[in-house]
Amino acid sequence: MLGIWLIVMLLVLGRLLRAPRRVTLALLGGLWLVMLALQLAAPDSGAARALGGNAAGWLVLGALVAIVIGYRRLLSRLRHRAAPPPAAPAAPDDGLSDPEIERYARHLVLHQIGGPGQMHLRGARVLVVGAGGLGSPLCLYLAAAGVGRITLADDDTVTLSNLQRQVIFREDLRGEPKAHAAAEAMMRLNPHVEVTPLVRRIGDGDGDLIAGHDLVIDGTDSFAGRAALNRACVAAGVPLIWGAIGQWEGQLTLFDPVRGGPCMACLFPQAPVRDAPCAETGVVGALPGVIGSMMALEAIKHLTGAGQGLRGRMVLFDGLYGESRMIGTARDPDCPVCCGR
Ligand SMILES: [Zn+2]
Repeated sequence: MLGIWLIVMLLVLGRLLRAPRRVTLALLGGLWLVMLALQLAAPDSGAARALGGNAAGWLVLGALVAIVIGYRRLLSRLRHRAAPPPAAPAAPDDGLSDPEIERYARHLVLHQIGGPGQMHLRGARVLVVGAGGLGSPLCLYLAAAGVGRITLADDDTVTLSNLQRQVIFREDLRGEPKAHAAAEAMMRLNPHVEVTPLVRRIGDGDGDLIAGHDLVIDGTDSFAGRAALNRACVAAGVPLIWGAIGQWEGQLTLFDPVRGGPCMACLFPQAPVRDAPCAETGVVGALPGVIGSMMALEAIKHLTGAGQGLRGRMVLFDGLYGESRMIGTARDPDCPVCCGR
């Protein structure tokens, strides 16, 4: 049965040489035709006897193989027809309107942002937690930049002592919920953005809310609240821009463990011995303006992909001496919050 051995050898060679299937099949078909022709033309020759079988046998074998190949092709075609059609291409975006083009003109000429970056900002969903000192400039700059959907959470109300630094509020808003007052200011600044105020705190149970956003920004001022927000962001896999201020100094960074950076618990696993709020230690009025604006800047960079973000780095700013420096941050492999995520 030399014929069968030739067929097997051809199949093995095709597999070893990784030949395309149709090439192997064409060679097999050619071999089959030669052997069939030999059996028909000279069935009693030595070559025909060496190949083995007879013309009828080779015809039956060829027919069986043809049926198997045809059946497989039919199945493949049916599967292809049954598969869902490819998703329709996304509807072309409306693009920026003429008023938006004029409003964002200084962004549009920046090659790191431009039209595509501005469209990313318009399509972004950002959760800002805290509408206080850091939240005030942060919210105004996010709205001014055209971040399309902003959720703003704060459970506090506006007081007279806020107005030394929380520049988003006015004196006649005393007693108003900060989330509502700030949301109104943002939409007055830019009617093209959508702001959803939430008069409450954000914590461990807000995973679904956080997962509905592209980015979370922490402008709160208590360790327990920050730690809860960090845990929720890590669980939801959403990056967190984090800023802190006290007296004359501030820090900011990006916590993004999903992309290899540390989370807040990697750097601050324990609450400070004395977690004193600004009300007790004091804070110079313009300092949250500096750090909050830098947080807005990092948010714009993150959402547009411009420049280099603060993943794995932290900015330290000393307003009293006008100095700033950058330190590296690293993930704690034993972090109880982000380890294994
Ligand atoms: Zn961590």
